[in-house]
Amino acid sequence: MGYNILYIEDNPDNMILVKRTLEARGYKMFEAANGTEGLAIAEKEDIDLILLDINLPDIDGYEVARRLRSNPVKPSLIHVPIIAITANALKGDAEKALAAGCDVYMSKPINIHELWARVEGFVPSPKSSTGSV
Ligand code: MN
Repeated sequence: MGYNILYIEDNPDNMILVKRTLEARGYKMFEAANGTEGLAIAEKEDIDLILLDINLPDIDGYEVARRLRSNPVKPSLIHVPIIAITANALKGDAEKALAAGCDVYMSKPINIHELWARVEGFVPSPKSSTGSV
């Protein structure tokens, strides 16, 4: 079995980078280019982990996190881990992301090794030798 990861991100370069990285490790990745689309996928699909960009073209990542944590369509989303990906860690984005319901945060530019470590902290890679899957 594998894990489903949803990445909500409007930057195509980041999307491609993260998709390649996660798929190489055996994860299945769902893509959403804005917050509304991301919420719809989270409500519809069986998602194990969400990567959430904060600066999105419609509703921002804080609002997406709040709507995931208090979701009338799918209340179980309160339990899905959320990794926030912030561009302005020095401006308080990280603290605001945690306050909105995210579990941890990473700063841009995305460091692939940090991404692996963060993701595997929640859902072990199917291709990891130490994974229990
Ligand atoms: Mn963005």
